[in-house]
Amino acid sequence: MSDTESRTWPTELVVRNPATGRVVAEVAAQSAEEVAAAVRDLRLHQHEWEVIGARGRKRWLLKFQDWLIDNNDHLADVLQSETGKPRVDALIDPSFAVDLLGYYARRAERFLADEHPAPHSPLARVKRLTTVYRPYPVIGVITPWNFPLAMPALDVIPALAAGAAVLLKPSEVTPLSALELARGWAEIGAPPVLTVVTGGPQVGAAVVDNVDFVQFTGSTATGRRIATACAERLLPYSMELGGKDPAIVLADADIDRAAYGIAFGALFNSGQVCISVERIYVEAPVYDKFLDKLTAHVRELRQGIDGRKPEHDLGAMANDAQQAIVTEHVQDAIAKGAKVLTGGQATGVGTFFEPTVLVEVDHSMLCMTEETFGPLLPVMRVADETEAIALANDSRYGLSASVWTGDRVRGERIARQLDAGAVNINDMFANLFNFALPMGGWGQSGVGARWGGADGVRKYCRAQAITTPILPTQQKEPLWFPYNTNKLVVALSAMRAAGAHGPRRLGVLDILNSARGRVADL
Ligand code: NAD
Repeated sequence: MSDTESRTWPTELVVRNPATGRVVAEVAAQSAEEVAAAVRDLRLHQHEWEVIGARGRKRWLLKFQDWLIDNNDHLADVLQSETGKPRVDALIDPSFAVDLLGYYARRAERFLADEHPAPHSPLARVKRLTTVYRPYPVIGVITPWNFPLAMPALDVIPALAAGAAVLLKPSEVTPLSALELARGWAEIGAPPVLTVVTGGPQVGAAVVDNVDFVQFTGSTATGRRIATACAERLLPYSMELGGKDPAIVLADADIDRAAYGIAFGALFNSGQVCISVERIYVEAPVYDKFLDKLTAHVRELRQGIDGRKPEHDLGAMANDAQQAIVTEHVQDAIAKGAKVLTGGQATGVGTFFEPTVLVEVDHSMLCMTEETFGPLLPVMRVADETEAIALANDSRYGLSASVWTGDRVRGERIARQLDAGAVNINDMFANLFNFALPMGGWGQSGVGARWGGADGVRKYCRAQAITTPILPTQQKEPLWFPYNTNKLVVALSAMRAAGAHGPRRLGVLDILNSARGRVADL
């Protein structure tokens, strides 16, 4: 039985504000047939979208950017209603999408331009070589709940810029912001190449069953299931999965900056960020000082429910299940000897969990090895950088990491020893806001990467090779039928001369003997 059939298929999603428990919307969930029909429809319009070229698409992408700017406050309202985020956090998503739209709208034409690589051999100079980037017709984008508008935008925008049509399946926990994106695309009158389908895992599986490329962001466990389904269809995919990002604080670091930066890196969005700081290793000489600063700072953070006025730093967890994982990680650590310096429990309101600093932690504890995705800061004392690097690399994840040091050369040297797709020195998240860099997880944190300049749109394309004769063509090429020994010797000698090295370039006699069926006289 397939994943699509194995569970009861809900026909409706109930969306709640997790901060208050209030129902904010009920949204229809699509059937498998509706998903297939949506893909058929996208296929009808994709060709037109491809042939208007990157310049034609730029017009629509910039119009969409205007729509996002004009609807900024409303989009933040919708996002807050389905996540319980503080106002400032809710405002980040639309601005992030605006920035990314500008980047790919303006650069896609250059990124997707035909290339004419130089032939590798003088023999091949009779052809003009062209690499053409042609989009996969329909990209399926499947996203999680932590950034309900930015997460879809991060992948939908470069896929549209590449000339593909996109079927977006947002998380069943937070479908409203993605529906707003589709509403905006329709409202500007753009070609109908972006469709949103809503529903749970079954709808996600139906997306995988119908599209030509899957871009997935979510948990490692779901990523594995989708990769298996893709393998059945020989479907290409790219995945951004879970993480357990380490922060290394060295004795020469600016301790104030490290404490403020790491608190933000661990607690932004209540720690529900794939690239959250999830474990902290501090060199012994500055361990006490760092802990004092960190704990004092965490204690002063404001947690609560915002309206349109920004009043809080931390909001709610996305749902009860996520709150339960954080509780389990804290209780497991305490049972194994850890101590809580501040926080440590759910607040009792909605799905809020207190920002929590844990010490006397080690790698026998879930909070140091499993993704928490919550407001936890487990801090471990280390003897030196060697121990810090070894512990940081002791993980099956490898999304990103940070190194805090007063010596940039030392920071870069350590970065090159960390097994992570990105390392930020004296900062966190910085790579995420630089679209020219790849954002990809190593190990069980992902397959492939998003962005990375031209790679960010080319990943949604198939590279097509075209050869065109430069010189007038003859009736027959030397190697065509019927075979002729003399022509063969000329052709193979030329290949040997071009490809071999040193005196072996001149192996005409060997070739002659082989061509005549004789072993060369060495
Ligand atoms: P999830 O894996 O439970 O769900 C993600 C999406 O996959 C949802 O839309 C869900 O409906 C869909 N889905 C579930 N089963 C499916 C199936 N069998 N086939 C197709 N689709 C299916 O993840 P989540 O709980 O929504 O999000 C949290 C996770 O996402 C965390 O592990 C976090 O680290 C990860 N994440 C990673 C990144 C990144 O860029 N690396 C970013 C954000 C979140």
